[in-house]
Amino acid sequence: MGDKDYSRRKFINKCFKTGSLFLGGALLLNCRGANESSRNEVETKKESTSEDPCNDLSDISDGEIKKRQSLGYVKQSAVPDNSCGNCTLFIPAKPDNKCGGCILFKGPVYAEGHCVQWAAVTT
Ligand code: SF4
Repeated sequence: MGDKDYSRRKFINKCFKTGSLFLGGALLLNCRGANESSRNEVETKKESTSEDPCNDLSDISDGEIKKRQSLGYVKQSAVPDNSCGNCTLFIPAKPDNKCGGCILFKGPVYAEGHCVQWAAVTT
């Protein structure tokens, strides 16, 4: 009985040690990936910041930048007759601002832009 308990204890200890190794390795890899990802986002922000207010994403959160990227937003539409300016989700520019916005994500949007969620304005 004593031997059985000892080997069970040994087995459980081995499992915990192995599990800890895998968990530690996974956490390490995950943290490394997150750092690289946030570095890329910062670079995207820096690239986007310019004199053009419609291209300035410096006040926009990383999550919102990811949203606009995941929707394939581009500042110049490649689809004839489809652009943010004639999309039902477009928020027109305010009188004191040059750029509009979009209901789907925060930040400035060009009226000439486009994304995969384009939807025709219905009258
Ligand atoms: S949904 Fe897409 S196409 Fe429509 S306004 Fe927003 S970014 Fe532009």
